[in-house]
Amino acid sequence: MPSGVRGHPVGVQSGPFPLHDPTKETDVEHTLPALPYAMDALAPHISKETFEFHYGKHHQAYVTNLNNLIKGTEFENLVLEDIVRKASAGIFNNAAQVWNHTFFWHSMKPSGGGEPTGALAAAINAKWGTFAAFKEAFTKSAVGNFGSGWTWLVKKADGSVDIVNTSNAGTTLTSGDKALLTIDVWEHAYYIDFRNARPKFVETFLNSLANWDFAAGNFA
Ligand code: FE
Repeated sequence: MPSGVRGHPVGVQSGPFPLHDPTKETDVEHTLPALPYAMDALAPHISKETFEFHYGKHHQAYVTNLNNLIKGTEFENLVLEDIVRKASAGIFNNAAQVWNHTFFWHSMKPSGGGEPTGALAAAINAKWGTFAAFKEAFTKSAVGNFGSGWTWLVKKADGSVDIVNTSNAGTTLTSGDKALLTIDVWEHAYYIDFRNARPKFVETFLNSLANWDFAAGNFA
């Protein structure tokens, strides 16, 4: 559950996204959130080795860097989401990458993929006509997101859904959009398992990993 001043809910990005372990609310430093599944749970699509590096090294490094950078600054006692919204440069980059990666892990699940149902499915069909057309548009956007970045399915302020690309540490937390689902298209996300084949990684994400229950919970 996101918190305002540590431990005090602010209702931003509410839904089934446990960014903060309630047992860690009194910790002074930011901590690497637990994965919602075991490191080998998404194999063979995403290997344990990828999680050892992407989660264990990259995500951890963003947390460590953030803790070092905010020491003695105005950001030291803010919760993660508030740092992302207020900071710039290195503090923003590391804070946003901590948040984005946690959101990405929750955007996948073992035996994921398939199609959403209910209100989210209706919103996707209203925007793209069919789920197949959405997948085509999402794939085109993710494959065409130049360099390092993130591709998001978002809910707009008017309740409709859209696909948004951000670059580097760019995040929906600083826009008016609510994140529903995301894929990390930095090369470190797929190079061990897919080498340079980003299209295959995006295809695998949509067909076998995407957590539509998580997206539906965020949409609600
Ligand atoms: Fe990453």
